[in-house]
Amino acid sequence: MRSINPTTGETVFERPDDTLALALERARLARSALPGWWRRGLDGRTAVLAALADRLRAGASELATLATREMGKPIAQAEAEVEKCAWACEWYAEHAAALLADSPVVTDASRSYVRCAPLGVVLAVMPWNFPYWQAVRAAAPALAAGNAMLLKHASNVPGAAHALERLFTEAGAPPGVFSATFLPARDVGDLAASEAVAAVTLTGSGPAGASLGERAGRALKKIVLELGGSDPFVVLADADVDAAAEQAVLARVQNNGQSCIAAKRFIVEAPIADAFETRLIERTRALVVGDPLERATQVGPLARADLVDELASQVERSIAAGAKLACGGGRLARAGCFYAPTVLTQVRPGMAAFDEETFGPLAPVIRARDEEDAVALANRSPFGLGASVWTRDAARGERVALRIEAGAVFVNGIVKSDPRLPFGGVKHSGHGRELGAAGIREFVNLQAVWVRSG
Ligand code: NAP
Repeated sequence: MRSINPTTGETVFERPDDTLALALERARLARSALPGWWRRGLDGRTAVLAALADRLRAGASELATLATREMGKPIAQAEAEVEKCAWACEWYAEHAAALLADSPVVTDASRSYVRCAPLGVVLAVMPWNFPYWQAVRAAAPALAAGNAMLLKHASNVPGAAHALERLFTEAGAPPGVFSATFLPARDVGDLAASEAVAAVTLTGSGPAGASLGERAGRALKKIVLELGGSDPFVVLADADVDAAAEQAVLARVQNNGQSCIAAKRFIVEAPIADAFETRLIERTRALVVGDPLERATQVGPLARADLVDELASQVERSIAAGAKLACGGGRLARAGCFYAPTVLTQVRPGMAAFDEETFGPLAPVIRARDEEDAVALANRSPFGLGASVWTRDAARGERVALRIEAGAVFVNGIVKSDPRLPFGGVKHSGHGRELGAAGIREFVNLQAVWVRSG
C-alpha cells in the first residue's frame, strides 16, 4: 500500500500489504474484543467517541495536511473534514442512548419490547475521497451500538488508515475494537466471508459494491452499500441565476470534483439556460487551480493519474457525441494530476458526461424544455444519490424535488451529509443508510423480546 502525492509525485506513506492470514487474525482479534467492549456499557463506549472528537480536533492540522498530501484535497476542505468527523462523534455520543433505547410494544405478553443488540465485527471497505469522514461516519454509530470495526481503506490512503487506528487507540478503544487491515482488494471477499466478520459496509464504486455484495450475499452477511452518484442540479426558470451559478460551481468542484454527492448534471430550464451558462463559464474560468496546500487554491489535482485519464476520456467521448466545449477541456501544462475545470454545453442523454459518473471538475449543462422535462432528465440516470432544485418559489421547488428518485433532495441548497439526517442512495447508488437514527440501526440485531410473567 502506497500513497503518492498527486501534486508532486512523491511517496507520502508506504507499508507492506497484509496477507489474508494476517487480516483474518485482525478480524479474530476484533471479535475477541467484543465482550470487553460490551462490558463498558453505552456510557463507556460513547466516552471513547467523545475522546475521539477531542483527539481529532487536537490533531486537525496534522491530519488535514496528511490527507491533502495523500489525495490532493484543498487544505481548508481537509480541515473541515476533520472537524466534521469530530461533530459526528459528538452527535452519536450525545444521542446514541436515545437511538438505541428499548422500544416497548404492547402484545399478548406481560412485557414485550424491541432492543438493539450489537451484531459483531463490521468490515468497513472505504474510499479515498474523504479519507477520515467515510471511515468515521461508519465507525461512530457502529461502535456506539457495541460492534467492533475492521477498516480496509483504499490503497492510496494508507497514511489516513494508520492515523485513524492510532486515534481510536489514543481515545481509549480497547485493542481490536477499531483496527485497520492493509489487505489488497482481491482478497477482501474472502475476509468478508470469514466467520469472524458479522457484516460488511462498503463505500465506493458500483463495480466494487457489486463484487463484494455478491461475496457477502453468498456468505449470508448483511451489507450496506454507499456507491456512486450523478446528482442532478435542477435550475428552474424562476431561479436567481447568479446565485444558482455561484452555488453550481461550489457544488461541482468541492473536493476537486471527487465527491459522490457533487452536482454532476446541471439541468436548466430553457428560458434561463443562456444566462446560466454564461455565468457558470465565467465562474469556472475564475477558479484558482494549484497546490492544494496553498490556502488560495480552490481546485487541486485529482487523486491519481488514472482518474485524469478517465475524466479526459469522458470529456473527449462527450464532445465526439456532440457536446460543445465551453471552457477547460484538458490536462494542465504542469506536473501533477491536474485537469482544467471544464464546462460542456449541449449535453444530452447518451453522452458520457450525462450517463456516467464523472469524478472531477467537469460541469455538463443540459437544457430542459420545462419542469416536466427537467424532472424526466433528472431521473434518467442509473444513479439516485442526491439532487438539488433551485428556484425562488420554495414550495414549487419542494414539489419538484419530491419527484426526483434520490436518497436526499435539497431545495436551494447544495447536497451535503449531516450526522442528523440519513445518508444513502437508491438505484445504482446503493442501499442501506449511514448517519442519523437509521445509520445506527443498520448494524444491530433488532431483537424482539417477549416475556410472560410466572
Ligand atoms: P473503489 O475503487 O470502488 O474503491 C473503494 C474501496 O473498495 C477501496 O477500499 C477499494 O480498495 C475497495 N475495492 C475495490 N474493488 C473491490 C472489490 N472487488 N472487492 C472488495 N473491495 C474492493 O472506489 P474509489 O475510487 O475509491 O471511490 C470513488 C467511488 O466511491 C465513486 O464512485 C464515489 O461516488 C463513491 N463514493 C460513494 C459515497 C457514498 O456515500 N455513496 C461516498 C464516497 C465515494 P483498493 O483501493 O485497494 O482498490
